[in-house]
Amino acid sequence: MDDRTFRNAMGKFVTGVTVITTGAGEEVHGMTANAFLSVSLNPRLVLISIGEKAKMLDKIKESGRYAVSFLAADQQETSMLFAGQIKDGRTLDFEWFDRMPVIKGALGHLTCRVVSEHVVGDHTLFVGEVSDIQLNEGEPLIYFQGKYRELASINEQRLSS
Ligand code: FAD
Ligand code: NAD
Repeated sequence: MDDRTFRNAMGKFVTGVTVITTGAGEEVHGMTANAFLSVSLNPRLVLISIGEKAKMLDKIKESGRYAVSFLAADQQETSMLFAGQIKDGRTLDFEWFDRMPVIKGALGHLTCRVVSEHVVGDHTLFVGEVSDIQLNEGEPLIYFQGKYRELASINEQRLSS
């Protein structure tokens, strides 16, 4: 099995899209991620997986905190920006919640304190205890087979097939 087969297989698993953010003082860093998992209710724990080459890795280690913003259907450009797929030097106004930078217009924000980290292969898993939650109405941005989708378009495809 080659890497492409593995990635193609993982691409069959549909996910939402998040932007992970963290900050030390005025400095804010964001990164698009779909490796996000709800882990435990008591205590309230979530998990993110950060690649060994990502700048985000050291930023989270430094701050000991991260925030997760669940992107809305109209935030594909935001996802591309924080995945390094748009590089036009644009700046972005973050919203502040629980003293953490988060993405304006997202469906939800979680702020988390890192309670454990685990190096696994070429990624580090950060388990975060959820400090606070803010939710908004809207439809989610969806990722499937390396492409962005919306719930409505998936429903339309099903109806027309
Ligand atoms: P950089 O590549 O330097 O930054 C990412 C981008 O964000 C840059 O374009 C930068 O300009 C912009 N940016 C950062 N901070 C700011 C700011 N304050 N203001 C304005 N712009 C800013 N990788 C993983 O490790 N785990 C995953 O779960 C994961 N899931 C992904 C899911 C999808 C759908 C995609 C498309 C990519 C995913 N990636 C994931 C890959 C990851 O998003 C990229 O490798 C990313 O470039 C790594 O970011 P970085 O921390 O190295 O920082
Ligand atoms: P893709 O076809 O490479 O990805 C499909 C799926 O494979 C992803 O949704 C993810 O589940 C998995 N995957 C891809 N790269 C991975 C990696 N390095 N480690 C672990 N799992 C990985 O292409 P795409 O979805 O269009 O991704 C665009 C870029 O973002 C690529 O460079 C990809 O490597 C990166 N990415 C990284 C991760 C990750 O590190 N967890 C997740 C998604 C995308």
